[in-house]
Amino acid sequence: MTDTTGQGKPQIRTLVILGASGDLTGRLLLPGLASLVGRGSAPGLRLVGTSTSDWTDEQWQDRVRESFATTAADSDATQRAALERMVDSATYHELDVTAPGALAGLIASVEPPVALYFALPPQVTQQASELLTPADLPAGTRLALEKPFGTSQEAARSLNATLATLVPEDHVFRVDHWLASPTVVNILGLRFANPLLEPVWSGRYVEKVEITFDEDLTLEGRAGYYDSTGALRDMIQSHLLIVMALLAMEPPATLDQRDVRDAITTVLRAAAIGDDLAGSTRRARYTAGTIGDRWVPNYLDEPGVDPDGKTETLAEVKVGIHNWRWAGVPFILRSGKSLARYHKEAIVTFKPVPHLPTGFAGHQSPARIRIGFAPEIVGIEFDVNSPGDVFSLDRVVLRTHLAESDLLPYGQVLEGVLTGDPLLFVRGDAAVECWRIVEPTLAAWAADTVPLETYPAGSNGPEGWATSRGERTLT
Ligand code: NDP
Repeated sequence: MTDTTGQGKPQIRTLVILGASGDLTGRLLLPGLASLVGRGSAPGLRLVGTSTSDWTDEQWQDRVRESFATTAADSDATQRAALERMVDSATYHELDVTAPGALAGLIASVEPPVALYFALPPQVTQQASELLTPADLPAGTRLALEKPFGTSQEAARSLNATLATLVPEDHVFRVDHWLASPTVVNILGLRFANPLLEPVWSGRYVEKVEITFDEDLTLEGRAGYYDSTGALRDMIQSHLLIVMALLAMEPPATLDQRDVRDAITTVLRAAAIGDDLAGSTRRARYTAGTIGDRWVPNYLDEPGVDPDGKTETLAEVKVGIHNWRWAGVPFILRSGKSLARYHKEAIVTFKPVPHLPTGFAGHQSPARIRIGFAPEIVGIEFDVNSPGDVFSLDRVVLRTHLAESDLLPYGQVLEGVLTGDPLLFVRGDAAVECWRIVEPTLAAWAADTVPLETYPAGSNGPEGWATSRGERTLT
């Protein structure tokens, strides 16, 4: 088959999901696929599932149908027909991908070009890719790999080296579903299409940048994964550093994946967490508490958690970017679970004016730009003359909702994979840089040189951790 996406890239004929029985596949990947197929994208795509579970084609089809149903409720007849065709033709293969030759045999049996989606535990992904050879992969094969990408700088380098023997870098899709969301393009548009902003977007005018991804969710049955990962690896090492890079990178010449991803890697290479790790990092773990009307047990009492472990459920790090634009500006990245509310936002706080004319009453507050992720909102906070007393300063907020996609986040991920555009995926060198940035902190935390604080589930974190984010949200 030689038809293309219209961009000169071969159209993927078969999507193979490795990890068909897993949580990610059922909860996120298949509903995302439904949102994509339901709008007429990926016509004729065949869906193949594999895992070690002893399933029949019918059992896999039932799982796909069930996951599709969560997305397809509002579909019209044409969309439902497309989804049903995909379900009816879906096939399942019981397979241990760590058995020599097993995955290669499956790839040889399906119609190329193929996209292999590794929805597997990271160490299984590593083993499976090491067993593949270039001869096993038909021309145009694309590899999509879930986070975390490796478990250390060295492991990420080694996985990159393995993948480089198999396919070109622009056929590797390291997934960060935050990066694949409209958030990214919104940050680029906001920054680079407005002469108003870019001249003040530097340490000359910016005091600090805070990026926060707080969740009111707890472990949600994923203790096995989370307890060996923690908030720093789970969120900051991957998502938040990439969002930071988008906020801090230099303007690219084009939106071509190479230009944008070069700029992301360049700024990450200039970034480091301060040497004084006790002063520039904080970690904490939740104890029993209430989130809304839900009682949450102490983290250590959650099923599947090692009671002697030191896993943090809330992490905060202060990153410096050592280049001309950002020298001296702290980028404060924080993420955690079991907090009072779901809150995903970047806040850019500007320095005060050099001189406020004497005679103004009221307090001058710092100007801020707030970028909310999910929902996608941009707000600008600044001081104006008060309507009652024109010599008094008053705070106003200009706020707008940004365009959101009709695709679910994993629909956007799959769209990138199926159309062959790696723009919104993490390049291999950026993944290595993200590990380099967090590794000294991981080592210090493992050696217990930074205290592990506690906070009650449903609170905003330990006392004394409040920053700009606590004052108001953009919703
Ligand atoms: P699960 O443990 O739920 O699923 C793992 C899947 O891998 C199962 O289908 C399992 O199948 C399969 N598997 C394990 N070993 C083998 C093997 N040797 N051969 C073939 N299949 C195998 O994990 P998740 O779905 O939660 O996570 C998968 C990946 O996605 C991880 O990298 C995770 O970090 C990432 N991720 C997950 C998210 C989530 O919300 N779940 C969110 C973001 C990323 P079986 O048991 O049948 O063998």
